[in-house]
Amino acid sequence: MGRVYLTTAIDYANGDPHLGHAFEKVGADAIARYRRLQGDEVWFLLGMDEHGQKVAQTAADEGIAPEALAERVAGAFRTMWARLGISYDQFIRTTSETHRTAVRELIERIFERNPDDFYERAYEGYYCVGCEAFKQGAEIVDGKCVLHPTRTLEWVRERNWFFRLSRYQESLIDLIEGNAEFLQPESRRNEILAFLRQGLEDISASRSRFSWGVPFPRPTSDGEQQTTYVWFDALPNYWTATRFAESRAEWPAQLHVIGKDITRFHTVIWPAMLMAAGLPLPERVWAHGFVYFKGERFSKSAGTRLDLSDAVGRFGPDAFRYFLLREIPWDADGSFTWERFEERYTSDLADGLGNLASRALAMLAKYREGVVPAAGEGPSLDAAGRGAVAAYVEAMDAFDLRGGADAAWTLVSAANLFVQQTAPWALAKAGREPELDSVLASVAAALCRLAILTSPFMPTKAQELWEALGQAGRVESAGIRTALDPALAGARTRKPENLFPRPATT
Ligand SMILES: [Zn+2]
Repeated sequence: MGRVYLTTAIDYANGDPHLGHAFEKVGADAIARYRRLQGDEVWFLLGMDEHGQKVAQTAADEGIAPEALAERVAGAFRTMWARLGISYDQFIRTTSETHRTAVRELIERIFERNPDDFYERAYEGYYCVGCEAFKQGAEIVDGKCVLHPTRTLEWVRERNWFFRLSRYQESLIDLIEGNAEFLQPESRRNEILAFLRQGLEDISASRSRFSWGVPFPRPTSDGEQQTTYVWFDALPNYWTATRFAESRAEWPAQLHVIGKDITRFHTVIWPAMLMAAGLPLPERVWAHGFVYFKGERFSKSAGTRLDLSDAVGRFGPDAFRYFLLREIPWDADGSFTWERFEERYTSDLADGLGNLASRALAMLAKYREGVVPAAGEGPSLDAAGRGAVAAYVEAMDAFDLRGGADAAWTLVSAANLFVQQTAPWALAKAGREPELDSVLASVAAALCRLAILTSPFMPTKAQELWEALGQAGRVESAGIRTALDPALAGARTRKPENLFPRPATT
């Protein structure tokens, strides 16, 4: 692939990070780390959406300035991303001056290139502050936004700048029909095509009587200075990020990772804005599903709250990352349950990979003074190892993160079974040294492959395993090539700390 500029959605600065935020960032981080394993030059952008009515309202409720709220929330998010080992290169905040200037520039570009794309219009309709969008038809059920049933819709009547989105209907259909990769997974693509074929309404590009945002570059005909509608400020962050002095991002982005609830914004409004401005389009948008906890999406309401910090703390950040990506498909919805978390931790990590590593390294210490022997004539795991790497690459290239983890764990199971069947302790007792060499070399090679393959999922544990195998440097730098053909003969291993201690029985 070469260069990969990868982004996630920027999160609203109106509350603490929750499970849904974490799932998206962990998934995108696994993709970023996998692309690095493939030798790509990755630039990974995260950020915060700090403007808009939702943020202003939350700040007002707390009796603080929106700037103070944004500052605090951005800090809480960055602390969580550090704890989860999210390997981002840049964190954009929409209140930063570089972003604000670039948003105005983007809007001016549209005015200059397509002067008819903005026009003034009086408008009234129901506005959902949760979505920061006007709602109509099937989007309203029982007088509430379907996505935000606990919020009250506001009846808004104002005269705004409008963006002529309707003009881009055909171009957008051509884009999504003609390019299977632009929007994935397939289910989202079908949904957006159906939406586009119904016809597009023009959308508000500015808001009146509301100032927490980027001033819209041109006043309305009666001289009013309006504020840029928050999505017209938020979506451009992917482009404005390339303007920061410290950024090595280059537009267009190769991949936007977003949640399925904001697919329309990213595959209809955003490409239309870019077309209007005469800028290249992102190569791919991936819309992941939701994570449910006790049947609820944001795990917010009383009694079903999942504290993200508790979940990360249960077995540590790496186990949490692994669980999310192995349990919840990257292309659909899934559920978090404590029971499944505990089961997977025990079976896959403590009894699976952890047990394999401690047995193998203990045997190397006992029979070969910790030095990996050259593979002699005898039983080998090499075919299983190569097969697992090939299946892993195929899945990860297709953004099937769960499939990638599955492929790695077929090797964990194969290697544990191999140890059981070849019984190295019996080979040692019988003095069958060449066979013992072969078995030990094979298991060490499997662990080396596993350190590399699991690093996008569990970067810290993978590094510990890598070092226990006597390997220098960072496991990320080893790359998929090393996983295909590990060369461990002569490596000086050591017994690791218990990678995944068995949970205390309660
Ligand atoms: Zn809503």
